[in-house]
Amino acid sequence: MARELTPPARAGAVICGAGVAGLSAAWHLAARRGLEQVVLVDPRPPLTLTSDKSTECYRNWWPDRPMIELTARSIALLDELAADSDDAFALNRNGYLYLTATAAGAAALERGARQISTAGAGDLRLHRGDPADPPWQAPHWNRLEAGPGGADLFLDAEQLRRCFPWVTPDAVAGLHARACGWLSAQQLGMLWLERARAAGAQLIEAAVVGVAREGRRVVGVDIARRGQVDRIATPCFVDAAGPFVADVAAFAGVELPVRHELHLKVFFDDELRVLPREAPLAIWTDPVTIAWSEEERAALAEDPGTAPLLAPLPAGVHFRPEGGLDSRSAILLWNYHSGATERAFPFEIDPLHLAVVLRGVSRIVPRFSVYLERGRRPYVDGGYYTKTAENRPLIGPLSPQLEGAWVLGALSGFGIMAAPAAGELLAAQIAGEAIPDWARAFLPGRYDDPDYRRRLATLDSGQL
Ligand SMILES: Cc1cc2nc3c(=O)[nH]c(=O)nc-3n(C[C@H](O)[C@H](O)[C@H](O)COP(=O)(O)OP(=O)(O)OC[C@H]3O[C@@H](n4cnc5c(N)ncnc54)[C@H](O)[C@@H]3O)c2cc1C
Repeated sequence: MARELTPPARAGAVICGAGVAGLSAAWHLAARRGLEQVVLVDPRPPLTLTSDKSTECYRNWWPDRPMIELTARSIALLDELAADSDDAFALNRNGYLYLTATAAGAAALERGARQISTAGAGDLRLHRGDPADPPWQAPHWNRLEAGPGGADLFLDAEQLRRCFPWVTPDAVAGLHARACGWLSAQQLGMLWLERARAAGAQLIEAAVVGVAREGRRVVGVDIARRGQVDRIATPCFVDAAGPFVADVAAFAGVELPVRHELHLKVFFDDELRVLPREAPLAIWTDPVTIAWSEEERAALAEDPGTAPLLAPLPAGVHFRPEGGLDSRSAILLWNYHSGATERAFPFEIDPLHLAVVLRGVSRIVPRFSVYLERGRRPYVDGGYYTKTAENRPLIGPLSPQLEGAWVLGALSGFGIMAAPAAGELLAAQIAGEAIPDWARAFLPGRYDDPDYRRRLATLDSGQL
């Protein structure tokens, strides 16, 4: 992708970062709102830090109402854009399938599903193996066809297996959320860039190194490339720097409350075609205790760094097929090292990561354990979830003390699915328009409210 070499002297807006956040902002500002001279600045090729490392999935199924609204709006924008671009980014509605093998897990799935449905994510259809149950409508695999929405909750193990015969026989319940699926994030981001450029936006290969202000107003942005620093005069600066969002905010004298979690992704060649091709994203919601061999147990126990792998590991191992029916690829993930970490590039990959993830996925599809003996070396990559304490993004003014500085960040593990609507919300605020009430939950200024801070202090899961 060609990038401009000469920075303009002035810009309508300067956006720092060409990941999905910055590209969505550029699309909305330049292409959808006609703002002139939008300039994107990034020293890397677009989308190459975090945005091309994702699982590329989306859902409207969130426990938090503002997140339901944000992702529902994103899904509406994605549907429009797919229709308008001849589906340039392969959007599907294959769904998410949450699974459990315990009665307590089934009760928790039901409780959570009722709460999420009531919060506005759509109808909940119960399947108890009763003749009066509503019918389950299979998704149209890898196609974008409006499904029933909401979710189907299988509380009858037999019926769950009839619909998903590949799931481990000891699964007792499953929740199939329907306004969910995946897409090509790379293609989506490049489509935004193409449309923003067609509307006059520029992408400059440089790093933002400073924000110039006069009194309480932003007046310019300093960018560095090849040892030279230039200033672009602008009244509008957007910090969309992904894992560097807090470092860039510091250029404007603002502290942002974010932390980082490393998440890895295994790109796997399922040469024996063990995993189902026509599957939703499948997520195991119980903790998993790995059945290591005696020899492996002894070796793991010897090292304090690996001994925790003998204990139950956190819930959440998941996989999805990648590519069409003829493909053998799958994406496997398990953030069993949960928790915040120091950000480092390049980051280290746990040498046991693959061994652990293969065993985790085998918990969902037992036949997958055939790969434990096959000594494979799949591709592993990943990136950081940049998160706030309550896992809500930051979309709005960077600080009440600084006019013209904005942030679109802390997109955590939902940046692909949030970016379409997040960019729209930010562009509306830049244009001085009112935002919907639910979007106030994402304003960085929320932390100035002592009641909000008190509520956060009582959160045990860290997820609103
Ligand atoms: C393993 C994994 C799986 C994921 N799965 C999903 C998923 O299924 N669905 C989903 O919605 N999300 C998912 N995510 C999250 C999603 O990928 C991120 O939320 C999203 O990519 C963040 O986008 P961004 O634009 O904020 O950051 P980035 O993509 O990191 O872009 C930030 C850009 O800012 C640039 N930058 C930084 N500092 C400067 C500077 N000083 N000057 C100029 N430019 C600068 C960087 O070079 C970079 O290009 C996943 C993430 C990971 C790691």
